[in-house]
Amino acid sequence: MLLLHDSLLHHPFRLVRGNYGRPITDTHFSEIRHESFRKYAPVFQNAAFILTHMCILQYITAFHKALFFILYLIIFFILPFLCLLCIIIELYTLADKQKMKGAAITRRNNMLQIGCHLSASKGYEAMGKEAVKINANTFQFFTRNPRGGKAKEINPTDVEKYLAFADEHGISRILAHAPYTLNAASVDPGLREFAKLTMADDLKRMEYTPGNCYNFHPGSHVGQGAEVGIGFICDMLNEILTPKQSTTVLLETMSGKGSEIGRTFEELREILDRVSLSDKMGVCLDTCHIWDGGYDIVNHPDEVLTEFDNIIGLSRLKAIHLNDSMNPLGSHKDRHAKIGEGEIGLEALTRIINHPALCHLPFYLETPNELDGYKKEIEILRKRYTE
Ligand code: FE
Ligand code: FE
Ligand code: ZN
Repeated sequence: MLLLHDSLLHHPFRLVRGNYGRPITDTHFSEIRHESFRKYAPVFQNAAFILTHMCILQYITAFHKALFFILYLIIFFILPFLCLLCIIIELYTLADKQKMKGAAITRRNNMLQIGCHLSASKGYEAMGKEAVKINANTFQFFTRNPRGGKAKEINPTDVEKYLAFADEHGISRILAHAPYTLNAASVDPGLREFAKLTMADDLKRMEYTPGNCYNFHPGSHVGQGAEVGIGFICDMLNEILTPKQSTTVLLETMSGKGSEIGRTFEELREILDRVSLSDKMGVCLDTCHIWDGGYDIVNHPDEVLTEFDNIIGLSRLKAIHLNDSMNPLGSHKDRHAKIGEGEIGLEALTRIINHPALCHLPFYLETPNELDGYKKEIEILRKRYTE
């Protein structure tokens, strides 16, 4: 293109040069004018020709300039930007994969995700092995003595072995339970501080097994009124939750025994609303508790779940405590019964595990059982899981 451009540019000068060097006098002016017109006509013609070409050239050059400009934009701006975008997306996906590694959300063969409460005294790997023994693919455990107190140091080797074991055996979404004696809504500032420090420490420890849930009883307002109690709970959560944590903190639905906060879906909603890092929060639904709290999951499960969805949102629901209840609807007692041996009954609990809004969730048994009893309940429920 450049060569063609140059040759065309030199073309007129070659022609014009041939007519230069001839002296021009006044006497010959008209003749010259006439002659020069004749002689120089081809020059003008050439000039016009060249000018036309120059215009085309200019057009081509402008066109190419635009083309080069676009190419330049693509190579130096758009492509690097797209690469950067891909890298960012990849990093996010990696972070997600990392998060899920501990939880390993692989629903193998559409199996019911079910487990029970296990003793944490021998560590994670031992719990994993115990779960597999009873055909569970998840489990719940206390982060420390259920009455509070100092937690056992986490053994990183144990955690590592557990994670490999869990991956191999399809154990996922384990649930930690805070000591049930903690009361973040207490009148006593010392007890509130204790609840805060304990839970903050638990959340730190939870990061050894990232991506799981940590469940706690919201607390009892002990006569101050639910509003004041909820205020204290939210203050605590706003102090201990961090944007970087991979753990989701769950509020457990309560039976309303004594001055327990969390009997109604509205109270849980209020807590969720007042926590700034609300995306780190979820809810764990305890079938015995809501039954005792007055939600009829036996005769009106759909209505109860619709109410839950309208007030809290089903997307907040991360786990189910699957328990039968020793007491009738609305008794506010909180006494768990073995599956099928209580007021809720096996049929209603079967409907719960198979309910389209719940069947994908992990279920945890907190029934009064030893390992053998849990094994039987898991077997019964697996047989009744129809997905
Ligand atoms: Fe609980
Ligand atoms: Fe529970
Ligand atoms: Zn309970």
